[in-house]
Amino acid sequence: MILVLNCGSSSLKYRLVDCSNPANRRGGTIERIGEPGGEAADHAAALRKAARDLGLDPGDIRAVGHRVVHGGTRFRQPTLIDASVIGAIRELIPLAPLHNPANLTGIEVARELVPNAPHVAVFDTAFHATLPDAAATYALDTDLAKRFGIRRYGFHGTSHRFVSRRTADLLGRPLAELNTIVLHLGNGASAAAVAGGRCVETSMGLSPLEGLVMGTRPGDLDPAIGMHLHREGGLSIDEIDEIYQRRSGLTGLCGDNDLRRVLERRQAGDPAAALAVEVYCHRIRKYIGAYHAVLGRLDAITFTAGVGENADEIRRDCLAGLEPLGIAVDHDRNAGRCPTARIISPDHAKVAVCVVPTDEEYAIAEETAELLFA
Ligand code: ADP
Repeated sequence: MILVLNCGSSSLKYRLVDCSNPANRRGGTIERIGEPGGEAADHAAALRKAARDLGLDPGDIRAVGHRVVHGGTRFRQPTLIDASVIGAIRELIPLAPLHNPANLTGIEVARELVPNAPHVAVFDTAFHATLPDAAATYALDTDLAKRFGIRRYGFHGTSHRFVSRRTADLLGRPLAELNTIVLHLGNGASAAAVAGGRCVETSMGLSPLEGLVMGTRPGDLDPAIGMHLHREGGLSIDEIDEIYQRRSGLTGLCGDNDLRRVLERRQAGDPAAALAVEVYCHRIRKYIGAYHAVLGRLDAITFTAGVGENADEIRRDCLAGLEPLGIAVDHDRNAGRCPTARIISPDHAKVAVCVVPTDEEYAIAEETAELLFA
């Protein structure tokens, strides 16, 4: 069994996964770590609680796979963790101040709890390491960018990799020949253009703020907006950061970050909710056009994560009007929710539109096993 840990700033997701039998798994989530009335006082306590819940016998664990958000330019692959890797993840904290510290705590506590198994870091950024320079480079002063590590790194890579591969399986086509746009639409959201299994464009950049409209993050903005808020509104950098992280996106537009609620409100005639959905879908449509151009030939568009897997209205609305590009959705195939991968475009459509459930914990287990045992 492989133990997978996804340690966030105030939560811990844990899974025991049997890679030879994906159905054989168990686990849970511990929330509000360190908060008053939370489930655990700190990450060490949370991990001990997870171990009790799993009835964990460290002797049964062949390996531990850790989700690590930022791998910078150094980590392009899943990596066996040792002291130098821990040091390097620590050096990357300025690039991921909210995530890497929590990921490190998880690694340190888990190494004490399961000392005899190999621990592997699986990076959210790694799948995007193949971005061509033209896509990865911001048009800023080259020396400044170099000094501060400013480039586009991209995130959700484990999911984009997993989902693009499953799309090839679903379509029965070789991965090496398939050009796909993956739309990972969860609370955080990002798009990736994948050519023959390699990522060539992605919508998140230096941080997970850029790109699509998200639950509480704005996605693309004019860089002048931060300066304007500072100069005209007297807002501090920390206040602007807080606005960008927690008070923008769907929350900023209509006060709700849960798209289910936003869709209900739109249905009830709420104009703020209707505009929020329009902005959300317009942004996705714009990225589809751009990534279609980047890929040249487009074979598939795949929706995944909470919104992408469940919200048929969103899938329909963000592809509306794209028939001239060979992109269309079959109403009946699109309708409703379904736990397995499926094609929702009409037969013989130029572009296959797919829904593929993501499974980040299983994907981390798979990448861990590929590194150690393949
Ligand atoms: P995370 O990014 O936190 O992993 P998920 O991928 O689980 O998030 O997606 C969570 C989001 O999915 C929720 O905020 C909710 O807006 C959305 N969602 C889930 N089910 C539905 C649904 N049936 N219709 C619309 N949105 C949904």
